Amino acid sequence: MKVLCVNAGSSSIKYQVVDMTDESVLASGLVDRVGIPGTTLEHKPAGKDKVLIKKDLPDHTAGIQLVLDVLINEEYGIMKSMDEIGAVGHRVVHGGEDFAASVVIDDHVKKVIKDCFDIAPLHNPPNLMGIEACQALMPNVKHVAVFDTAFHQTMDPANFLYALPYEVYEKFRVRRYGFHGTSHFYVSHRAAEMLGKPYEQCKIITLHLGNGASMAAIKDGKVVDTTMGFTPLEGLVMGTRSGDIDPAIVFFLMEKLGLNTTEANNYFNKKAGMLGLSGVSNDLRDIIEAADSNNERAKIALEVYYNRIKGYIGNYIAKLNGCDCIVFTAGVGENAIETRENICKDLDYLGIKMDAAKNNVRGKEVDASADDSRVKIFIIPTNEELVIARDTYSLTK
Ligand code: AMP
Repeated sequence: MKVLCVNAGSSSIKYQVVDMTDESVLASGLVDRVGIPGTTLEHKPAGKDKVLIKKDLPDHTAGIQLVLDVLINEEYGIMKSMDEIGAVGHRVVHGGEDFAASVVIDDHVKKVIKDCFDIAPLHNPPNLMGIEACQALMPNVKHVAVFDTAFHQTMDPANFLYALPYEVYEKFRVRRYGFHGTSHFYVSHRAAEMLGKPYEQCKIITLHLGNGASMAAIKDGKVVDTTMGFTPLEGLVMGTRSGDIDPAIVFFLMEKLGLNTTEANNYFNKKAGMLGLSGVSNDLRDIIEAADSNNERAKIALEVYYNRIKGYIGNYIAKLNGCDCIVFTAGVGENAIETRENICKDLDYLGIKMDAAKNNVRGKEVDASADDSRVKIFIIPTNEELVIARDTYSLTK
């Protein structure tokens, strides 16, 4: 059976086709600028050259239609007919408190996704557009929703509640949800395999460090805590998001800079983080390069970035009462050798000791810990699409 994985953003559609007989990726691609002049589709069929198509598309339905046309194209397609797609798996950012696992999409599921629009206004509306476009074009197959929040639903109230009047949790569902769940799920399971221990007996700290970044503390197969909160804004310093700050700064700057709520939301999500602090870029590669050329703001931005992560490692080791391994993943975690080294520096008191030579890799699954490190340091490339494909397959086969 072939599974089509779809990740629909406001103006983009990422896709991947996975053959579940051997979990091989048959094709992947990205439709960019959907609904904006200058739409492009980049299609990568396995074993063939990349294809770039430029064609303006009005909406997500037209975008998905183009993807399907490309998948069955005689020259660069990967199947003869759309009927070969057995099921479609959709990445959905927010499932609220309703879903702790992936589900086959029906009207109730779509209603829950819609009910979460107000708590995930940037993500859930385009996710639902992607689902509806696929359902319209592929009405005879099952569609599955795989939620970013689902894995974190195992957190207990002691870790997901904020110290706010309890009514705001009851009335407005204000609580910690956590995101990047599919990635934390994938790498923590791989880590347990690398440890050679049953997943339910492991204490694992996962560091998903990409442009967006979050950490999770996992014990006995359950998420104990995670750094992102009610929205993806909380926690680590990210490319353009502030992460943890004193909430009073929000009111203060709204007044000083004359920002309304939408502008303030944009400010802390898009103008802050490593971009705002360094003044260089949101891309860690540029900031490291600037710091190497003695740019003082870039240097201090990196220190703030490392310190926040180190702080959470300590926090999570305390909450887990120990730790078997920490796991680096995502763009920065998989590739930034120096960043991993700086994060692990001076953590030997906690049992974390890196072997610099073993850490000298990019994008590979390795154990980078020193022989006498009590805590293993793993680098594990994430694979969210594979989780989506596996869940979709197991719910629909
Ligand atoms: P992601 O959001 O997981 O796709 O990660 C993208 C981010 O990874 C980019 O914005 C870069 O900051 C970062 N990145 C990728 N490669 C490197 C590298 N070699 N060194 C430092 N950062 C990197």
